[in-house]
Amino acid sequence: MRLDIPTLAVVTVFVTAVLGGLLIFAGLQNRAVRAPLTWGSAFVLCAVGMVLGAVRGTVPDWLSIQFANALVLGGLGLLWLGARQFDGRSLRAALVAVAPALWLASCSVPAILADINLRTVIASTLAGVIALVAAGEIWRGRAEPLMSRMPTSATLIGYGSLMLARVPLTLLMPQAPGDNHLTASALYPLLAFGSLLFAVVLAFLLLNMTKERSELRHKTAALVDALTGVANRRAFFTRAQRLLRQRHGDGGALAVLLFDLDHFKAINDRLGHAAGDAVLVNFAATATRTLGPAALFGRIGGEEFAAAIRVGDLDEARAVADRVRREFALAEQADDVAPTVSIGVALQGEATATLAVLMAAADRALYRAKEKGRNRVASSATGAMDSAAAADVIDRRGWSNLPASA
Ligand code: GH3
Ligand code: MG
Ligand code: MG
Repeated sequence: MRLDIPTLAVVTVFVTAVLGGLLIFAGLQNRAVRAPLTWGSAFVLCAVGMVLGAVRGTVPDWLSIQFANALVLGGLGLLWLGARQFDGRSLRAALVAVAPALWLASCSVPAILADINLRTVIASTLAGVIALVAAGEIWRGRAEPLMSRMPTSATLIGYGSLMLARVPLTLLMPQAPGDNHLTASALYPLLAFGSLLFAVVLAFLLLNMTKERSELRHKTAALVDALTGVANRRAFFTRAQRLLRQRHGDGGALAVLLFDLDHFKAINDRLGHAAGDAVLVNFAATATRTLGPAALFGRIGGEEFAAAIRVGDLDEARAVADRVRREFALAEQADDVAPTVSIGVALQGEATATLAVLMAAADRALYRAKEKGRNRVASSATGAMDSAAAADVIDRRGWSNLPASA
């Protein structure tokens, strides 16, 4: 089979422009992620550059050589800029003009302008380098778990490598000066086909990355408390349930710590809701820091928080709770508030203790801590509570989304 190069060039231009339009459309739709607008503009710019390059001979050379390649290089630069925008890095928009400026400066040298092989070497080097830099930019954000990030980076690396490979190939197989630029080079079919494939795959992956970003944000928002940034009640209950089911060979048990800020209503009444919010944020930060990364911690109600940690015995759980209590009492607070916290602790008993029983036992202990004067830790054995009594507590507390089987 023989590829008809002019046809392939027309198809590539057309497809690139349409993909650019689709990316722009996606960017306009989603206010939260604007990078597709930049990526779409990149595709459109490349398409215009390719058209101008393809009609060489029918338009002035400065349009089809200098300007056409500058547009393509600017388009590739926009791909890089979109990657920075996507990951919220500072936009260095002026850098997009660097490669086109270098290219135009080279073309102002008559010896370069007159030599198609030199021009190819310079333009390909610039294009290859920008594609690799854009690949690196995408890869830098890999801490965010998006499936399409790695393939996007790989696609850009593939394109960049293809461009850079043109340099030695052009030097080994130079084109004669009078040749038709589209058909004379033995490399052209490969390049044209590669560009088409690159445009389609890259547009698909970029759109997918945008979609995955939205999905991840929604998923996170459903599990995180908006004020404090810690796990919300649903996330806490689900994860605590999972922890409870896990069997550990170390002989440890799961402890539930239930925190309730003392006289919180009075703080709100005296200093206002915003000051109350600041205290909640402060407590969440203090507890998260004190409990460490191994603990599960979440906000399960207005000024109520809970933690689940694996401990050796009840004394250890009480010690951890008391550390949080002390740290919070010492924590620097805005305004003139000195909030404290009361904590109820319950330890997973024999293999039968369910999360509902554990939570209810911790709640009972918390009640005792309040009764004894607040700013203290009280604990409770789970053995004393049956599931009917636990169900009562769950009901009264409104912890309705505690997993039913718990
Ligand atoms: P106790 O020591 O017995 O726990 O007293 P308390 O005042 O802390 O208890 P109570 O349950 O009566 O009051 C809880 C208050 O928490 C009432 C409610 O207005 C406030 N609250 C609940 N959610 C929020 C919130 O998101 N922000 C603020 N600022 N206040 C909240
Ligand atoms: Mg309360
Ligand atoms: Mg309270």
